[in-house]
Amino acid sequence: MKLEWQGNLIGVQPRIRLMRSFDQRQHSYLGYMLLVDGIMDGCMCQFSIGIGKGAQAKYQFRAGDRVQGVCEPVMNPEMEPADYYKASKLTVLSRGKPSTPPPWTDLAVDLETTRARGHRRLSAATYEKHCRPCRWGCRMAVEIIIDQWNPDKKRFRRETFCYGPKSCALYKAGAPSKVPGRRGMTWVEEDWIDEQETAHRGPDD
Ligand code: SF4
Repeated sequence: MKLEWQGNLIGVQPRIRLMRSFDQRQHSYLGYMLLVDGIMDGCMCQFSIGIGKGAQAKYQFRAGDRVQGVCEPVMNPEMEPADYYKASKLTVLSRGKPSTPPPWTDLAVDLETTRARGHRRLSAATYEKHCRPCRWGCRMAVEIIIDQWNPDKKRFRRETFCYGPKSCALYKAGAPSKVPGRRGMTWVEEDWIDEQETAHRGPDD
């Protein structure tokens, strides 16, 4: 079912699925997510559309652009960060103007760079309030395998992360992530993991 949409881009962010199994984690880089304030199938609302990296390379979407196209609702919302995907007939109607950071509204970086930068956890409230326009923000679809010996036992949720400069004045970490495991055990992802993941970057990088 193809749905017509049009709207202003709130932001363009990496589209990532995170698989957790207790203290292990693995990222799948699906492309980019357009966060849109506009009209979906005749209804005014805010929504997100998943696109591939080829579409982002072709259209160079960024916050403030006015865009239209068609898309489909996602088949498996637990595994997909976006509300809609399979976008086509994409057209940029007008271009937005970059604003002074933070948040960083200029062009999203390539996914290899995103991966190499590493992320820190980001308060969900801060993400909602400040970070949706920022190219460094990311709201991942998270799949949790509770018991690796029984991989069908899963939970799903969303988690928010920041790939941006560690000196960003808007950043708030929020509570550490807790990952449920077998026999009622819980893995707590403490601060040192974020520090280790981003240790290769300076405060303003
Ligand atoms: S906290 Fe991160 S995602 Fe939010 S504005 Fe700052 S750099 Fe961007």
